[in-house]
Amino acid sequence: MGHDAWVENHSTRPHHVAVVGSGPSGFYAAASLLDAGAAGGPDVRVDMYDRLATPWGLVRAGVAPDHPKIKSVSSQYDKTAAREGFRFFGHVHLGEDVTREELLERYDAIVYAVGSQTERRLGIPGEDLRGSVASVDFVGWYNGHPDFVDLSPPLDTERAVVIGAGNVALDVARMLLLPEADLRTTDTADHAVEALAASSVREALVCGRRGPREASFTTTELRELADIDDLAVVVDPEQVPAGIAEDDTLSKGTRRNLEILRRFAEQGPDAAARHRMAFRFLRSPVEIRGDGRVEEIVLGINRLETGDDGRVRAMDTGERETVATGLVLRAVGYRGVELPGLPFDEASGTVPNTEGRVAGRDREYVVGWIKRGPTGIIGTNKKDANETVRHIVADLAAREPREHSPDEVEAWLRDRCPDLVDQEGWAAIDAHERGRGEPHGRPRVKVVDRDELVKLSRP
Ligand SMILES: Cc1cc2nc3c(=O)[nH]c(=O)nc-3n(C[C@H](O)[C@H](O)[C@H](O)COP(=O)(O)OP(=O)(O)OC[C@H]3O[C@@H](n4cnc5c(N)ncnc54)[C@H](O)[C@@H]3O)c2cc1C
Repeated sequence: MGHDAWVENHSTRPHHVAVVGSGPSGFYAAASLLDAGAAGGPDVRVDMYDRLATPWGLVRAGVAPDHPKIKSVSSQYDKTAAREGFRFFGHVHLGEDVTREELLERYDAIVYAVGSQTERRLGIPGEDLRGSVASVDFVGWYNGHPDFVDLSPPLDTERAVVIGAGNVALDVARMLLLPEADLRTTDTADHAVEALAASSVREALVCGRRGPREASFTTTELRELADIDDLAVVVDPEQVPAGIAEDDTLSKGTRRNLEILRRFAEQGPDAAARHRMAFRFLRSPVEIRGDGRVEEIVLGINRLETGDDGRVRAMDTGERETVATGLVLRAVGYRGVELPGLPFDEASGTVPNTEGRVAGRDREYVVGWIKRGPTGIIGTNKKDANETVRHIVADLAAREPREHSPDEVEAWLRDRCPDLVDQEGWAAIDAHERGRGEPHGRPRVKVVDRDELVKLSRP
């Protein structure tokens, strides 16, 4: 073989990238990597890994089941998965089943798209009592995430207290109060449908540390509360006074939210409604009390103070309020988990990086929540992934692809992970779930047992 032929042959060999995590950021990164060749860049093949047998990350296991339109973004991910050069390897846990060193040996680059797998703590006494539940766990439970199937949150209480003033707080409060008929048309995991249908919870008290101006709900999530059957929304007119939204210094979104909250305050709650969602601002949890399980929560009453940096802070007035409850849902934020061998910033719960290039590393990259923290909507991850992929493509173009045999990689994985679920296996699970949902007008009936998932994935 002449030298020129060798060069030509060599440079047309594709690059192989491992994307670890199959949530939105992983899929947007994969799509963008697969586009690189057509855009004149290097030819890239993608192997996507996930620790679960099922893909889509929080689109399957986070987004509330009563928001099927939002979940339907998964059809975009299906299109990516169907593209040439894409493979899915489910049930492969990086850090347990395979190491990053092993992936670095086999791939030209690794993209970590592992999201934020745990919760921020409140750091108060009683936080670990039975009945004090992290939203990460509760959300996973109603969405059928196999890790949380056995959570059995105590729902034998009239009032639940939700700590947090963001969309996750609204999601969990709403899921607790949704009419049974609405719940039964969703893909909420069956164990949760039955538990929620039998629940005694009539009121969810949503508590924000700061005021209504500082809450981070999105307008659509607040507005839809008015359309839920049998739900009274309770807002204290003193906390949301007339004219609160007429402030040009506030963003449009905040003003719209304040208008909605003010409308709820003016209307007053529907006394006949079976369920109540009550908002209480300027409250911080101080202590959760109970004998073996949650019986009450002590809330500290705050006032607001604007710092020199312009940030509005909640300051404890020293006043206290005690609320009887058997269920406290902590929705104060998701948090990233350290991956073995990678740098980690404890304060932000993210992997330190510059526009997606992991600090101090050559062939390792991050996208999504593990890159920038748990903020933004699903679409935010697209722009974020594109930024990282621009750098990956530039870095790959400057290097020769490594020796890589896709078949050998697959054989190695199957040997290491006998329960591996590939794209065909997932397609079989997906078809089964949709088929079970169809006669009941549900998008799917989720399979939540690991062994059953593996069995369904086999031809
Ligand atoms: C409760 C909740 C509700 C939300 N609702 C909405 C909404 O209605 N609309 C909206 O736009 N956005 C919503 N979001 C935000 C949206 O879900 C996120 O922006 C998005 O999922 C983040 O994507 P990601 O890919 O970074 O992480 P994730 O979606 O979390 O995906 C991470 C994936 O990595 C896998 N993984 C983790 N560790 C490993 C490992 N070690 N090895 C292999 N795999 C691993 C996980 O199993 C998971 O599949 C919601 C978020 C939450 C928490």
